Amino acid sequence: MNRDDAVALDRDDPLAPLRDLFDLPDGTIYLDGNSLGALPRTTAGRVAEVVTQEWGRGLIESWNTASWITLPQRVGDKIARVVGAGQGEVVVADSTSLNVYKVLASALSIAAADAPERRVVISERSNFPTDLYIASSLCRERGYELVLVDSPDEIEGLLDRAAVLMLTEVNYRTGYLHPMAAVTALAHERGVLAVWDLCHSAGAVPVDLRGADADFAIGCGYKFLNGGPGAPAFLWVNPRHVDRFSQPLSGWMGHAAPFEMSPGYRPAEGVSRYLSGTPGVIAISALECGVDTLLAAEAYGGLEALREKSLGLTRLFADVVSSRLPAFRIESPLDDARRGSQLSLSIGEGAYAIVQALIERGVVGDFRAGPEDGSAPDILRFGVTPLYTRYVDIWDAVDHLVAVMDDDEWRAERFWTRGAVT
Ligand SMILES: *Cc1c(COP(=O)(O)O)cnc(C)c1O
Repeated sequence: MNRDDAVALDRDDPLAPLRDLFDLPDGTIYLDGNSLGALPRTTAGRVAEVVTQEWGRGLIESWNTASWITLPQRVGDKIARVVGAGQGEVVVADSTSLNVYKVLASALSIAAADAPERRVVISERSNFPTDLYIASSLCRERGYELVLVDSPDEIEGLLDRAAVLMLTEVNYRTGYLHPMAAVTALAHERGVLAVWDLCHSAGAVPVDLRGADADFAIGCGYKFLNGGPGAPAFLWVNPRHVDRFSQPLSGWMGHAAPFEMSPGYRPAEGVSRYLSGTPGVIAISALECGVDTLLAAEAYGGLEALREKSLGLTRLFADVVSSRLPAFRIESPLDDARRGSQLSLSIGEGAYAIVQALIERGVVGDFRAGPEDGSAPDILRFGVTPLYTRYVDIWDAVDHLVAVMDDDEWRAERFWTRGAVT
């Protein structure tokens, strides 16, 4: 394998035209779309139109005339198509952190009604911290115990005491992909509800919430959905649960008739009851551009085709690193079926500085610190977005990494100062 082979793979790639749907800076190899997706070409124009026309000219009328009021459901229906949910089952709202609170609280209400003796919520120690922080305060509030496993093998032994199993389908550090259908089936067999976080799955791997018969799901708008920094998040509730309880952040936008302005709360039918306050119109409009850009891939085989390419890219990455940079350990699963759309590496020392040296060379990945107790290493993380990442980008990124290591470039002092965001 050499650089020409990578160029040939791009030439033969049926998905290659999709890259033109993005406004990417020249000279940058962007491998951080799992943290902040790139800018779709349509977004700036659409946001300008919402601001100058819909807001500037239409003013408050636009809630009706530009259908601002139904944006959470309209964009939710589009997201539903990439996560295997039905129409009318997904809404866009708030942040992932808040949505974790809303769906986990509802799951606990269901469990409290159906199996009050179960007092445990299971998650993984390596789950994204905000999920764990929110779960732990909710458990404290409701008198549950949050039990964190270090390996998926430990889950089964805890199920008989558990009310809810809350997992992130693709691990943010390693890219480990849980078999959602099998894990959900096991949880259900043992009387446990399954809540799935799709932050690193939605838009990256095919997700089939209905096929897996999951109970609740949440996910992020600014990663593989390319919705822009701080884009609103989404949530899904299995239709069999949706009308059983209202979620605790029962704001007026989740009311059956918000403009009745009645003092008492009456939840809307269906997933709309999971809305809380007024939707962020500009932000959801930008998210819609990101989701539409992803949906453009439906004409090229959709997520199945994107998944094939993503695996091709991460496989190439792993192969070239193994052969050219044996000092690095590959922290992502080598089994295609268990790997999300990223490749994570670790090395004895200097992970942060190496990432900085790569960024100076125009190769943008990120650094994720290992836990304080040293139970897992610091990670160099490279996200692969098959909509715009090319095979040659992977080849060139590894070339740069070789150069950073060969000349000890990363030891330069300027690479050792940490920014507020890593
Ligand atoms: C990115 C991510 C989040 C981010 O939550 P915010 O509320 O948007 O800050 C939460 N959970 C997981 C698993 C993530 O990957």
